[in-house]
Amino acid sequence: MITGKNYIGNQLSANGNKTYTTFNPQTNQENKVVFTEATSEEIDQAVLLATEAFASFRNISNEQKAAFLNAIADEILNLGDELIQTYCSESGLPEGRAMGERGRTMGQLRSFAELVLEGSWVEATIDTAQPDRAPLPKSDIRKMNIPLGPVVVFGASNFPLAYSTAGGDTAAALAAGCPVLVKSHPMHAGTGELIASAVISAAEKTGMPNGVFSNLNSSGIAVGQQLVNHPKVKAVGFTGSHRGGRALYDLAAKRPEPIPVFAEMGSVNPVILLPKALENRAAALAKTYAQSITLGTGQFCTNPGLILGIQGSSLNQFIEVLATEIVAIDPGCMLHPNILGAYEANKEKAISQKEVTLAADYSKAVNNNYAKQAVATVTGAVFLGNPQLHQEVFGPYSMVVQCADQQQLEEILLQLEGQLTGTLISDNHEAAQYPQIISALQNRVGRIIFNGVPTGVEVCPSMVHGGPYPASTDSRFTAVGVSSIARWVRPFSYQDWPNELLPEALKNENPLGILRLVNNHKTTDKI
Ligand code: NAP
Repeated sequence: MITGKNYIGNQLSANGNKTYTTFNPQTNQENKVVFTEATSEEIDQAVLLATEAFASFRNISNEQKAAFLNAIADEILNLGDELIQTYCSESGLPEGRAMGERGRTMGQLRSFAELVLEGSWVEATIDTAQPDRAPLPKSDIRKMNIPLGPVVVFGASNFPLAYSTAGGDTAAALAAGCPVLVKSHPMHAGTGELIASAVISAAEKTGMPNGVFSNLNSSGIAVGQQLVNHPKVKAVGFTGSHRGGRALYDLAAKRPEPIPVFAEMGSVNPVILLPKALENRAAALAKTYAQSITLGTGQFCTNPGLILGIQGSSLNQFIEVLATEIVAIDPGCMLHPNILGAYEANKEKAISQKEVTLAADYSKAVNNNYAKQAVATVTGAVFLGNPQLHQEVFGPYSMVVQCADQQQLEEILLQLEGQLTGTLISDNHEAAQYPQIISALQNRVGRIIFNGVPTGVEVCPSMVHGGPYPASTDSRFTAVGVSSIARWVRPFSYQDWPNELLPEALKNENPLGILRLVNNHKTTDKI
């Protein structure tokens, strides 16, 4: 029997008696490796090590931290084909996607390395003393961001690399100076263990303290619950369902010391088809959207699950072409039988609601664990009156809402729950005539797209991947791009502190040469 283990800091460990395997949805068979769920003692030990590691890791130099992050990227590449094969066998996703996601994961790690090396991200702010100020003298006050402490990261089922073990949350937390405890996603425990080995190897090669990273296996929710409840854990990162994210958020809020949970959850990503655009290119838009809805078998958090237009012949044409095009696309494999089961159940729940019409339903036989794509349609009035229709159906599904007029479209937008994205499809200068629609959309989403599709999230500093609840638990932060580091830090002020005892970022000499706000002026100058 090949056994999968936990990483408790740099030690492999499998003391528990609860075991499980991962599943290959393409072959419809369990994979061979048997994983052992972390025991309560192993969890305690990992958190204790992380707490000890924090004492030194929080103060290591920018160069050392950058070297660690770059080394993780190198070690991930060194895993070679084994990583790609394990990824595919645990997710059903194709090799090309595995390699693309590996590149993205390495790119994220390297961009955080660059960020910490440059150093200005700490937002150093200095107000020098005015001893002669009347009526009271002013103290010297200096502020910068400091790390929160050990962070728990829950990996996403739909991104086994880029939003999992060494994905965006982990890279951002390590860059901030927070040790990371990963609650491995049970669907891709083997991929997680391989990536964990790369992180540990990088930590050892670059002299990081033992405990800066741990990877804990779980086959149910108990491991995650114990981690979130642990008094030494200071923050949580999560990507997944609304149910899971909300449960963890509530758990963290009920602790004697509540901690932040940054959860990125479900979204239906409304797309608005403005009348002129629809009139001019309904068929072309429908073809584009058939591709976007089925991309990755609909398993992206930015999947366009809700399309809104004003009723009429152009919208009818859009629905007809979308229906024809979407069933002409080959069905894809879902990540796991449970995800497929949830898709089928949620799709059924949506289409069985009163006055919902099925516009397209893939009807041919499909392989095990392959999803049948579908499009439903409903009037604006029915949609407004039935909150069930506002819920995400995670998979290759979308609902087209036929609004009576512009006013109803706006009313729908005002009633929608928070979303990751909103898309505006417009022709020429049409958009300028709809300021209320744009404003209503902006109030509900984290990112607005003009004449495109919401799928495909660029990793760059200006990206916002988040949004009002329930798209995320805190709309002030992004989960993608280097700004996501802000989730794992807190602002901290030194008052009248001797120059030689200040951290480098705040010293008079500005030894790091970073951009600082000094007496209200942005500068890299010395004081
Ligand atoms: P999930 O059920 O939210 O689980 C994600 C992680 O959170 C898992 O590791 C799970 O642990 C843990 N978890 C869930 N509920 C918990 C609780 N009450 N307490 C403690 N830990 C908890 O998501 P999933 O398994 O990845 O996928 C299931 C569904 O989530 C999908 O069908 C889809 O609807 C949705 N999803 C949405 C997105 C999105 O971006 N919108 C992304 C991924 C998934 P265990 O697995 O060990 O129980």
